[in-house]
Amino acid sequence: GKPGARNPVFCDGLEEKMGIHGNATCVIRHEESTGWLVGEENRGLALMFVMMNEARIGVGLQGIAQAEAAYQAAAAFAKERLQGRSLTGPKNPDGPADPIIVHPDVRRMLMDSRAVIEAGRAFLFWTALQGDLAHASPDEAVRQKGNDYMALMTPVVKGFLTDKGLKVCSDALQIHGGSGFTEHFPASQYMRDVRIALIYEGTNGVQALDLVGRKLAANGGRAVMGFFAELDAFVAANQDDPALKPFTEGLADAKAKLQEGTMWLMQNGLMNPDNAGAASTDYMHLFGLTALAYMWALIAKTCQAKIAAGDTDPFYATKLTIGRYYMQRVLPDTTGHLAKLTSGSELMMALPAEAF
Ligand SMILES: Cc1cc2nc3c(=O)[nH]c(=O)nc-3n(C[C@H](O)[C@H](O)[C@H](O)COP(=O)(O)OP(=O)(O)OC[C@H]3O[C@@H](n4cnc5c(N)ncnc54)[C@H](O)[C@@H]3O)c2cc1C
Repeated sequence: GKPGARNPVFCDGLEEKMGIHGNATCVIRHEESTGWLVGEENRGLALMFVMMNEARIGVGLQGIAQAEAAYQAAAAFAKERLQGRSLTGPKNPDGPADPIIVHPDVRRMLMDSRAVIEAGRAFLFWTALQGDLAHASPDEAVRQKGNDYMALMTPVVKGFLTDKGLKVCSDALQIHGGSGFTEHFPASQYMRDVRIALIYEGTNGVQALDLVGRKLAANGGRAVMGFFAELDAFVAANQDDPALKPFTEGLADAKAKLQEGTMWLMQNGLMNPDNAGAASTDYMHLFGLTALAYMWALIAKTCQAKIAAGDTDPFYATKLTIGRYYMQRVLPDTTGHLAKLTSGSELMMALPAEAF
């Protein structure tokens, strides 16, 4: 009823964006406006990071959730769209063509997507559980580990899962062929909407730097050493189980590569900080691929136990097939990431800025 003096804050206009049109983004101008201190003076950055870390987990979830929606649209399309014949003979002989899901290259995109989405979702929940344990466990050691893991995994959840989310959305559009590039199908919207997840709440490049520059070295490397010990313990406890062999072997190999990459960073990143910067995104991907291998190993163990107990629900056998595909066809990317990250920054930084 009685407005006081105006606090001059203005909305200068709404941004035109490539996606997330349901979410308005505007430019705000402050003209000598009054602000109020929240919390203690000089603690602003630390307080902001409480919000930022939570938001980064949320953006990782956005990456996986949009990937799941895009995958579902692509899987439905692949079962309906008739084009070409199966390489091994017609699967829909009464129709004019086979559905494109018969083609191995279409399967490659569907399986790549599912292998990453399902373990990515498990990785999100596993990380969130660490947050709950950090808050609520009565055991001080468990609380400390929960905090260590939350700090270490947050940039991986944000950066790796959104990079992968974009790849899944791109593959989903590709599966739609030319229809995917039109607005008759939802694939192009998923592609536009997921793109921001690689940028806001700190770009993925900044997540990778946070991982190698701050999170690895925190508390003398306690968090990453704890993670390595957990992976070693899982492999040691399960390596004699023949049903889990593809999982324990893949996980042990990925962990060895991640450890090698970590040692290389510790030695070469300190000597020349550009080496750490040049290695950071490949290191984040090596880390994410290894974390998802661990998730698949945990999932496989649960599924095997269900099957061994006589549960015939095909859900478990399907999971095991997708998990084995991950070990066979996705996890080998660790070799490329390790080779790139250990190649150093020399050639990357060799050209003067004018050469670009
Ligand atoms: C739709 C939308 C909504 C947003 N909402 C909010 C919001 O609510 N609140 C808010 O505060 N902000 C918001 N932002 C801003 C957003 O968080 C930033 O745009 C984002 O963090 C990137 O910062 P920048 O744009 O300044 O890019 P820059 O920091 O200029 O980065 C440009 C490029 O350089 C790279 N780069 C920069 N510095 C380094 C470095 N040191 N090492 C290596 N690479 C580097 C980056 O990775 C990137 O590739 C929003 C942005 C968008 C598009």
